[in-house]
Amino acid sequence: MTPLQHIIHQQIKRFGPISVADYMTLCLLQPEHGYYTTQTALGAQGDFTTAPEISQMFGEMLGLCLVQCWQDQGRPDPFALVELGPGRGTLMADILRVEAKAPGFLEAAQIWLIEASPRMQQVQSDTLADHTPSWVAQVTDLPDLPLFLVANEFFDALPVRQFRRAKDGWQEQMIGLSDGQLVFGLAAPMQVETFEDRTNVKTGDIVETNSVAQAIIGEIAQRIADKGGAALVVDYGDWAAVGDTFQAVRQHRKTDPLAEPGKADLTAHVDFAALARAANDVSRTAMTAQGVLLERLGITPRAQALAGHLSGAALDNHVSAHRRLTHPDEMGTLFKAIALYQKGAPPPPGFDLYDP
Ligand code: SAH
Repeated sequence: MTPLQHIIHQQIKRFGPISVADYMTLCLLQPEHGYYTTQTALGAQGDFTTAPEISQMFGEMLGLCLVQCWQDQGRPDPFALVELGPGRGTLMADILRVEAKAPGFLEAAQIWLIEASPRMQQVQSDTLADHTPSWVAQVTDLPDLPLFLVANEFFDALPVRQFRRAKDGWQEQMIGLSDGQLVFGLAAPMQVETFEDRTNVKTGDIVETNSVAQAIIGEIAQRIADKGGAALVVDYGDWAAVGDTFQAVRQHRKTDPLAEPGKADLTAHVDFAALARAANDVSRTAMTAQGVLLERLGITPRAQALAGHLSGAALDNHVSAHRRLTHPDEMGTLFKAIALYQKGAPPPPGFDLYDP
């Protein structure tokens, strides 16, 4: 048994079954043995890859969008340029390279990164050595400045709770022990006020909630309402979807989430409707497919310009990277984006507009 398995088994023996959210938190962030605290998760050698690791064009397009928002809001100086869960720092590096061409942007920007893993912080520090980023533990610790923020594949790493609709209420999906093995089980039915409007959920279906994600979005929205700014959130997920999306990925393959705690990445799809609901006092865009967003921001002309400098295998990789990011059969529609921005400001370019 691994040390983390031992910790989880002991906790269940002492206190009873734990929620999926508690299990995710232990597996991902347990200080000594958690996945993000011990593994170099990302990239071809890691367990999974992400849009910024596939091509520099992803960060370039988000960078263009962000700089337009900053200009549209009167070029605030100073402002906080923030990334949540920056991974290897690739997305921020690509954004900063684009922003160097926008007069005044870098001079006005204070770079703040929110990263739970000391190990990932070190990688980010190396990637961004030409800049002077600072790290904080949470959004509430950011300075009171206009906020221009990006988050890619951050919200899917936050802990979800799962509830199964029963005839007489909702049963939380828990993780307990049976014959020395971790197993899923259901708690007794209870009434859950927040689900009262989920009339589309049939008996036996699962819905997921993410109170941490909602609290973070609420804080970001409050800051944008007070000081100005915009937040671009990209992730895989959907709008008020129903179903079990809790999954584990190790070495680019799906595995059993209970089999190897701390050794696999655990995620759940992001419910963009819940994020939108938590964003008070700001304007928001509609949820927009990643492929559509990147096309509108100009990824195809950018891909063509870059292709002009490439040949052979490098050109083939580049063409397939463009397809992976945008094509509906790849990441183009599975991944979605939403933006929050200050009321009265022009909406961020590229997004579908919200029409209340
Ligand atoms: N945005 C990057 C990395 C995505 S992986 C990319 O697109 O490549 C998720 C990142 O969020 C990792 O850096 C992980 O360490 C970090 N993370 C996960 N949970 C977190 C939490 N609760 N608080 C802060 N960072 C977290």
